[in-house]
Amino acid sequence: ASTTAHTENKESLLEKDRTYMWHHMSPYNPNPMIAAESKGAWVTDVEGNVYLDGMSGLWCVNIGYGRQELAEAAYEQLKTLAYFPLTQSHVPGIKLAEKISEWLGDEYRVFFSNSGSEANEVAFKIARQYHQQKGQPSRYKIVSRYRAYHGNSMGALAATGQGVRKHKYEPLAPGFLHVPPPYCYRCPFGKTYGSCNLECAEVYDQVINWECAETVAAVIMEPTITGGGVIVPPPEYLPKVREICDKHGVLLIIDEVICGVGRSGQKFGHQNFGVKPDIVTMAKGITSGYLPLSATAVRAGIADCFNEAGINQHFRHINTFGGNPAACALALKNMELIEEEGLIQRAEELGHALRAKLSVIEDHPNVGDIRSFGLICGIEMVENRETKEPAAPDKVAQVIGECKKRRMIIGKNGDTVPGFHNILTLAPPFSTTDEDLDFLVRVVKESFDTL
Ligand code: PMP
Repeated sequence: ASTTAHTENKESLLEKDRTYMWHHMSPYNPNPMIAAESKGAWVTDVEGNVYLDGMSGLWCVNIGYGRQELAEAAYEQLKTLAYFPLTQSHVPGIKLAEKISEWLGDEYRVFFSNSGSEANEVAFKIARQYHQQKGQPSRYKIVSRYRAYHGNSMGALAATGQGVRKHKYEPLAPGFLHVPPPYCYRCPFGKTYGSCNLECAEVYDQVINWECAETVAAVIMEPTITGGGVIVPPPEYLPKVREICDKHGVLLIIDEVICGVGRSGQKFGHQNFGVKPDIVTMAKGITSGYLPLSATAVRAGIADCFNEAGINQHFRHINTFGGNPAACALALKNMELIEEEGLIQRAEELGHALRAKLSVIEDHPNVGDIRSFGLICGIEMVENRETKEPAAPDKVAQVIGECKKRRMIIGKNGDTVPGFHNILTLAPPFSTTDEDLDFLVRVVKESFDTL
């Protein structure tokens, strides 16, 4: 139960919420959960109800809630040096950049921003300018994938491959195009994995040729599409795409905003596939969501072109709050604790256990496919397992509602049918205990049983 004394009752808070708050995403929500405090994998609302957060907030509270060490790292830094712009430098920024480079296993130079969207915008701008400075100014196109999510700003949203999220805000930034995702359950090429030719990877070669390679700056992808339905690629996919990028002189940007910082069972998601990206973007888990911070890590060989280029060709991009010292100090502490406590191995172990335990719903008539990547899991709901017709919205809503009744937060996304989400998502914190995991799976099972 809650230990915090709330001076206002829920009705009064809800009244003010309705008057003053504009919630993210959701249409008018008359009864939001009003969170008050959190610990481990659990969040308590203002009435004292305790929920297991099966989604780590928005896939971000990797280390788990309530870590005093993180609060203290930020507090100490705020007292010492609360702010300094990164046109110059500061100690926590330098140390964090070094740690990120170390985790990436190579020399990368790190540009700090505040959000995943901003980190991706930085990546696009660096990719375009890099080619200009290498004497190929015609390379500006960015190739992304349908179903991917890369952020909310005009460039990052242009890279996003979900029409329903975009169409009301178009025209977005020009120069972004998309290829079909490696979605084996509903292969866009009508193939079956094992007997296919990895058409989902080969399509990059075709598209880059058709577009004229000399107009293409970069490919951007997540190691696994998360927000578009937990679409896990075959193991050969990323290495093949890397090879195609190299063949055409195209940079490979890996968006690690969700998959990074241990979530995949490796330090970064792409490390599961043995590829080396040119640019890596990260956010969310870098501070475990405790403070805003994001990073764009650029391979030294690419970054050096900016140093050599002279004052008129420097990277003309500034961000007032990006790389705030307290956020950097907190992120460094977060990464150190994740290392010291073996939490990446724990995430991997939890991911395997979650997938294994979910076999209890595998034969349910409304479960079409269960996919997992590290501690990220997607349960694709269908009406009919033969035809794979996506489950009706009321069925998906029922499972989510039943989970909530049982005090467990589960997510959804997908857009298998435009605008409608039939894929349930789970990405609990690394602090989830074995008992928490049993509870989570029991709730999922009971909730499916109500259908
Ligand atoms: N890339 C990916 C893969 C994401 O999942 C998100 C956020 N869900 C973003 C980028 C954008 O991050 P932010 O919301 O911090 O701008």
